[in-house]
Amino acid sequence: MVNESTLIEKDLRHIWHPCMQMKDFEQCPPLVVYQAQGSYLQTDRGELIDAQSSWWCKSLGHGHPAVVAAMSKQLQAFEHVMGAHTTYAGLAELGEKLAEISNKQHTFFASDGSSAVEIAMKLALHAKQVRGQPQRREFIALKNGYHGETLGTLSVSDLGLYKKPWEGFGVHCHMIDGLPYVSGTDDPLWTDAEQHWQASLPALEKIKSRVCAVLLEPIIQGAGGMCCYSADFLAKLAAWARENDIYVIADEIMTGMGRSGEWLACQLAGVEADLICLSKGLTSGALPLSCVLIDASIYDLFYDDYDKGNSFLHSHTHSGNALAVSAALATIQFMQTENIPQQARDLGAFMRQQMQDIAQKTGALTNLRQIGAMVAADMADCKHKRPGFAFYQEALKHGALIRPIGNALYWLPPLNSDTKTIVKLAEITLHSINALYS
Ligand code: PMP
Repeated sequence: MVNESTLIEKDLRHIWHPCMQMKDFEQCPPLVVYQAQGSYLQTDRGELIDAQSSWWCKSLGHGHPAVVAAMSKQLQAFEHVMGAHTTYAGLAELGEKLAEISNKQHTFFASDGSSAVEIAMKLALHAKQVRGQPQRREFIALKNGYHGETLGTLSVSDLGLYKKPWEGFGVHCHMIDGLPYVSGTDDPLWTDAEQHWQASLPALEKIKSRVCAVLLEPIIQGAGGMCCYSADFLAKLAAWARENDIYVIADEIMTGMGRSGEWLACQLAGVEADLICLSKGLTSGALPLSCVLIDASIYDLFYDDYDKGNSFLHSHTHSGNALAVSAALATIQFMQTENIPQQARDLGAFMRQQMQDIAQKTGALTNLRQIGAMVAADMADCKHKRPGFAFYQEALKHGALIRPIGNALYWLPPLNSDTKTIVKLAEITLHSINALYS
């Protein structure tokens, strides 16, 4: 057995943890994780429900047997070969599966979400150059959106705290403000956002000739606090982009792979994007893998003699990493056989009832919203300066790893979580809220 305090001391001496103020560890030391299976972690604080799927990636939970078996099998053959010049059965098969899901024929692989968004942005810019429209260098994105941590992706994101020190770097981006946020698919705005659309249109019309792409998280803005917006607005924006020869880039890094109750959240709005970014749930979070699914009209622009200047010479060392590819293939095969998108819809409906019940019992939650297997609500008038951090610490005591975003409390568990786990999660959430508001 490890000595936990020695381990934590060593960690804090050497590791700079992501998305953290390291000083917060003085108040709440890092969790020591021993094992993870399904929706549960075994830690130095006991068993915890991984209520947010380890940053939204564990689509089939931890250590899924089909994913582990596929990786073990691939490990017997090779872990990785360079992506240029080579192929292997799993890679071609995954490409075929992704085409089935998305209707996009070609896939370009990378490792993390931010890199996938960078690739999509570069492709959009480059495609406009190839088409003789070099003046189309600007982007449109949504206020409160998030697309990653590189300088390029931060410049199309809109989260002040994350972005402020690097303001001014990256691409020129226009933000659409005043989105029609909804509580779910039964919200009247879901199918009719005409007023909001008409309010946004004049600003878009002014800049349209300079724009190469609209980049957005379809339907759910994750890091912006799990805010859901109208499918009608998305459909209108995509149709306007198409009419004006502007590419649509769907950042489905969180919303894709069944989370929204469809394979892709764009499908909820009947939208087919030109470029689609996937990551996170793609491998059920077993290994890092991301990709951009590419419309044939864009792919064809770059298919030319090497020296004509129309080649897309982007590379990552681990593009199409064989172990990660084997995990992705197994994830998709399992999701298809078990109809996981349908399970996500059912799970979401159940989670909504449970969260509604907590809201009624405590009076502490407002603005409840749910799409697919994601439910969120805001913690109202909490006396704590940092309600999210206070809630996180409280929930740990009761048996769940829940990390709110600001005051937005949300559940985004593995898509195949059972209802028993959700009932337990609801009890933990209720106890934690009661403790926070007492
Ligand atoms: N886009 C979206 C919508 C995301 O949610 C994230 C990660 N939270 C990213 C991009 C960046 O992905 P990564 O952290 O793998 O770079």
